[in-house]
Amino acid sequence: MAGLEDLYREIILDHYRTPRNRGELEAPAVSAEGHNPLCGDEIRIFIDVKDGLVSEVRFNGSGCSISQSSASMMTTAVKGKPVDQVRAIVKRFKQMMTIDEDDNSAIDESINLGDLEALQGVVKFPVRIKCATLGWNTLLDALAESGK
Ligand code: ZN
Repeated sequence: MAGLEDLYREIILDHYRTPRNRGELEAPAVSAEGHNPLCGDEIRIFIDVKDGLVSEVRFNGSGCSISQSSASMMTTAVKGKPVDQVRAIVKRFKQMMTIDEDDNSAIDESINLGDLEALQGVVKFPVRIKCATLGWNTLLDALAESGK
């Protein structure tokens, strides 16, 4: 039986109490919105893509500690990185958060998730996985928007 300490790791609580890169970006930055109706989480992601880099990223929104801290941790993981690498990090994170045994897609071991591995405990609580991945899926939407 997974304990709540697996869900609320210290690093997760720290990002919830002191969110990083919280706020908005002005145009020409693009934004995307994501909702998780199961939990009532809302996230808006703002990104500025310059010369192939995600040069700035911000988020705001409201919801449970897992959704907000995961978004905060995501911003620190992707800020300043090339778009290709950001997509690879998102893919790797979503692979970590999946419980789909049929997913045999190759895992890119060269990507070190670092602090993000603290969120792996959420996998033991399937109803919360959508909380943890909300910001990440919304980031993909924002990247798609920036590519238009
Ligand atoms: Zn939630």
